[in-house]
Parts: sequence; C-alpha cells; structure tokens
Amino acid sequence: QPVFDVQTIRRDFPILSQQVNGKPLVYLDNGASAQKPLAVLDAMDRYYREMHSNVHRGAHTLGDRATTAFEGARETVRQFLNAHSTREIIWTRGTTEAINLIANGLAPRLNPGDEILVSRMEHHANIVPWQMVAERTGAKVVPVDVTPEGELDLDAFERLLGDRTRILAITHVSNVLGTVNPVANLIQQAKARNVLTVVDGAQAVPHYKPDVQALDCDFYAFSSHKLFGPTGIGVLYGKASLLEEMPPYQGGGEMIERVSFEKTTWNTLPYKFEAGTPAIAEAVGLGAAIDYLNGLDRAKMEAAESTLLERANQLVATVPGMEVIGTARKKVPVMSFKIAGLHPSDIGTLLDQQGIAIRTGHHCAMPLMDFYGVPGTARASFAFYNTLEEVDQLFAALQKIQRLFA
Ligand code: PMP
Repeated sequence: QPVFDVQTIRRDFPILSQQVNGKPLVYLDNGASAQKPLAVLDAMDRYYREMHSNVHRGAHTLGDRATTAFEGARETVRQFLNAHSTREIIWTRGTTEAINLIANGLAPRLNPGDEILVSRMEHHANIVPWQMVAERTGAKVVPVDVTPEGELDLDAFERLLGDRTRILAITHVSNVLGTVNPVANLIQQAKARNVLTVVDGAQAVPHYKPDVQALDCDFYAFSSHKLFGPTGIGVLYGKASLLEEMPPYQGGGEMIERVSFEKTTWNTLPYKFEAGTPAIAEAVGLGAAIDYLNGLDRAKMEAAESTLLERANQLVATVPGMEVIGTARKKVPVMSFKIAGLHPSDIGTLLDQQGIAIRTGHHCAMPLMDFYGVPGTARASFAFYNTLEEVDQLFAALQKIQRLFA
C-alpha cells in the first residue's frame, strides 16, 4: 500500500535531521542534488558487504551476485521509464555524459548546414556537447527563445523547426525556472518532420515518472543523484534501432565482442556503450532509490509538491522587492528569484547562516541569465520531503534579510 506522510518520510532521510550553523537544516537545494533515503545507503552498504565483485565475469558466486544486483537495477530503471527493453538502458556517469554520448553518436548523421534545435532555457549540459559536435560537423545549434514568463515560445519553435533541423534537444523541466515543457507535443511535431528527439530529464524525474514509449522520444537522459540516488551514475535511454546504428562512445573492456589487431567488433546493447568496469554499487543504489519512490503514493507526492509551490508563491508578496523569475503555468516546485538591493550570493550566504540551503548563481544556464539580464538568481528547489513549515522558515528569513540588508 503506497503511503505519503511527510514526517514519516523525513525519518527515512537521516541527513535532514541535523543542525547547520546552530539551526535545524532546511534543505532547499534539491535541484542541484537531492538527499538519499536510508534504503539507498543500506543497499549500497549491503552490496559492498555481501556481494561486491566485478560484473559479467561469471567465474564465481560473488561475481554472479554482483551481476544479478547490477542487472536487476537496470530492469528497475527500465520499468521506471517504461522502456521496451533493458537493451535500451545505458549506464552513464550522469545526464552530462549521456548527452555527450548521444551527440557523439549522432555526429555521423550531421552535415554542414544541418540544425540542432535547443531552447534558451537549456542547462549547459544540453548546449555545449551540441556546440562541440556542431564544430566538428559544420552543423549549427539554433536556440528557441522563451517568453518573459519562462515558457518555451511555441510560435518560435514552430518557425524554427524547419527543413534543416535534424535534432531537437530539449529539457523536460528547466532547472532555473521550474517550467515543465510540453515535450510530448514538441516530440510529435519533430517526429512529423523526421527530426530526432533528445530529452534532458534531469529535473523532471525527481517529480514525475516519465513514460518514454508514450512520449515516443528517441533519447531520454537523467542523473541518479537528483533522483535521490548516489552520485556518479546516470541513465541514457535510447531507442534500440538508433543505439544499434550509433558508434561506441569509449573503447575498452566490456564494450567489445572480439578484439584483434586486424579487426575489433562491438558487444551487443547495452554493453556496447559501457566501456570499462561500471559503477556497480551506484547502479544498485539508484535501483534502491527507485524502489523507494515506488513505495510512495505518487498522486499525493505531486499534490504535496504543488502545495509547497503554492505556499511559496503566496508568500512572495511578504518580501518587499522580491521578484520571481519564471512564472510558467506548469511548474515543478522550483523558485528562482531576486530581491532588489541584494546580490544573489549574499542572499545565499545570509540564508546559510540560518541553516537554510539554497543555490545562487547562473545555474549552468548562462544564455537564460542573459535573456533575463541578470548575472544570476537565488533558487529554492523543493523535494517531496520538504514541509510547509520549511517554506515559511525560508520566507521569514528572507523578510529579515530584506529588512536588515536591502
Ligand atoms: N540538465 C539539467 C536540466 C540539469 O539540471 C543538470 C544538473 N544541474 C544537468 C543537465 C547535468 O546533470 P549532471 O551534472 O548530473 O550530469
């Protein structure tokens, strides 16, 4: 029976119940990285205590245990994404490596003048790999603008999706604005023009369970550490037919079928893209994070997150000079803001003194900062384990900071 009670849930996250700078920790930097439930810590500890060995070597019992746990986690991820097959689930170091892998793999399809459509709200991880591949191939990276509210400009999108477009690489959810993009609709339009589709799911998966078959995207990438799992591992989903055609990303052990000095051949999917000993314990930890999430009532979790954002939105007016950047109609609980007379980094430091962790700066989205004409923002990003009291604490602290320092 799935449950959702925030006070019970918080006990699953030991890091949350500590004092920071003499104050109870209020962790509102989940967009940068989320905290880990005991289930994840225990699964990784147990893996190292009882199962650790290299995978896919098959010579002994520990090797079998490690392989079973590792491949079990891949199946858990497959179910989470509703992918057709585990052949389509590639382990990477994170979203960044996943997008680099795709960009590298699609490079042979790109010719001078071809266009890669991205948006102005992309994280650098979904801009720079495309710029690098464009440099190599003569293709061009074309940004779709956003509206002042922080939604994708759909008219501009339709205008720019043209005969030269080969790839659409778009974020599902903006890490700065919290905007949820209408990716299903965008993908459909791209498909109608035979454009390949890449979705950056890094900020979407902590809030939604994507269905890659329903979306019909060609690629979907996310990082474990934002999904309450360990750092050092992430996932690339890709349609098998495309992955089959793509060249390997890195060479080495595991990714080969047969090596000789005359000719080396590649392993089957997904191993063709997994050179070297993988992050085994991390895969197990990510599997445990997804199992943990599967035990929560998703409808209630999403409702609780909406309530956090609503409360934050209501309280904005209580801080003189506070302005929210990104007021899209469909948002995850992320709030970027500025306060007149205060530098974002000072807001961050002053909040930290009160035990409140937020992020400040450009959020790896400089083109978006340029659009809004700001050097950076302060950003509070909430997770399902945050409480309404924590939202109130944030705003009480902001009121005080504004009064004393602005
Ligand atoms: N895309 C988005 C939207 C992100 O928020 C992030 C992380 N901030 C990334 C990509 C990159 O993820 P990672 O650093 O885990 O590779």
